[in-house]
Amino acid sequence: MSAIDLLVIGGGVAGAVAAAVARSAGATVVLTRKAWGATALSSGAVDWIEPDPDAMSVSGDAAAAQEISLERLLRERPDHPIAILCQGERTRARGEAEGALEILASLLDGGPAALAGPLGLYASAAGDVRFADRVQAGMAAGELSRGAPGRIGVLALPELEGWRPRAVVEALLQARDRGLARGVADAVEVPGSLPGAPPSIRMPDAARWIEDHGLPRIERPAGALRAILVPPVFGYRRIVERLREGQELLGVPIAETLAASPSVPGWRLQTALDEALRDRGVEVLFAAASFRGDGLGFRVGHRDIDPRAVILATGKFLGGGLAREGRLRETVFGLPVLTGGRTAESAGVMSLTEASWRAHQPLFDAGIGVDARLRPQGARPGVFAAGGVLAGWSYPDRGCGLAVCAITGRLAADLAIVFLGARVESAR
Ligand SMILES: Cc1cc2nc3c(=O)[nH]c(=O)nc-3n(C[C@H](O)[C@H](O)[C@H](O)COP(=O)(O)OP(=O)(O)OC[C@H]3O[C@@H](n4cnc5c(N)ncnc54)[C@H](O)[C@@H]3O)c2cc1C
Repeated sequence: MSAIDLLVIGGGVAGAVAAAVARSAGATVVLTRKAWGATALSSGAVDWIEPDPDAMSVSGDAAAAQEISLERLLRERPDHPIAILCQGERTRARGEAEGALEILASLLDGGPAALAGPLGLYASAAGDVRFADRVQAGMAAGELSRGAPGRIGVLALPELEGWRPRAVVEALLQARDRGLARGVADAVEVPGSLPGAPPSIRMPDAARWIEDHGLPRIERPAGALRAILVPPVFGYRRIVERLREGQELLGVPIAETLAASPSVPGWRLQTALDEALRDRGVEVLFAAASFRGDGLGFRVGHRDIDPRAVILATGKFLGGGLAREGRLRETVFGLPVLTGGRTAESAGVMSLTEASWRAHQPLFDAGIGVDARLRPQGARPGVFAAGGVLAGWSYPDRGCGLAVCAITGRLAADLAIVFLGARVESAR
């Protein structure tokens, strides 16, 4: 093998899982990311596919309702990466998801973004309640669909911008009344404050404040509580410590809600991935990669890198993997961009959007087309792609999220290793 076997361009969940799997198979791996991407905006939840709401309201069985959604996705969306990779087979798709989620969990294990499962129901700082396949460990005690019904407290912090405890309380009560939140008997606000903090503080600054100064003031209401839900700002690296302190002080489990943007849990996730990769021997760079146009040569910051294989994990528009510069294009190789299985290069952005925000938005599904071995159409041998940059899927469509990035990242690494002829000792 040459000095560098694999260059992974992009360091969100797709690139990180790809780099870790390839490294564990013995390849020398360099990963570069030029900035924060969509991974750093995610809520702290890792989503596979949203359980079918109708099936959920009839049976109350989230796992069965998720299988129904998966079945429908594979039938209705042949251009979705999971349908392409698993040839429409539901059992295979579920197996890939479980395997990839385990790899992601093992990467994050023991750190501030460690994951807990299984599929459960959680409140979000956006003022709704939704299912998630995995959540950061500090959110786990806020699972709402299981266990004996109890009263849930929601911490009010008047200083905190964008935190609406009343909306969270109402969302909990509605989910209870719809039969979804079976662990909720009642929900109440719990008074609190950040003594000494500015009178109006943004979520990332509140997290820094709690990291540095300790717990907010929390007035425990009379009567038993099953858990207290707090905004997702209970620290950056010291999150576990802070939640434990709170639990010991109040004698009640404390759990963060899922985040809205800007997301402190997203910051934790991205930072933990960078660190986990370094610990495993991946060289992590913070620089833009540009294709030199010869062989598989790249300029990465001030360095020339000529890897034997490449994984493109550059995300969609937020990550920077897709852009409109005159025409819609993939940004590293200039590969064609597709949506709905057709080229979208010359399509105007307005023709790819629908007026109603509830409608399916073709622009969100834009990406590059790949075959069942994750080789982009029109790319040279040795190039594989994973994650958001792939056409045919997006997070707002059916709640498919980071699990798709983990699945495609892992498979891209396996396929790159086969291409490299290396001995595969993957974490399977
Ligand atoms: C606001 C928001 C909230 C979300 N919440 C959730 C959620 O709760 N649960 C869930 O499962 N999913 C969620 N998603 C979806 C999920 O975050 C994305 O599907 C996922 O992060 C995409 O990961 P990725 O690794 O493919 O790309 P990204 O995370 O976008 O990473 C792309 C990377 O590529 C790098 N890059 C691009 N071009 C170059 C270049 N030329 N050189 C070097 N680096 C480059 C970028 O710097 C970045 O690091 C959310 C998405 C958004 C936008």
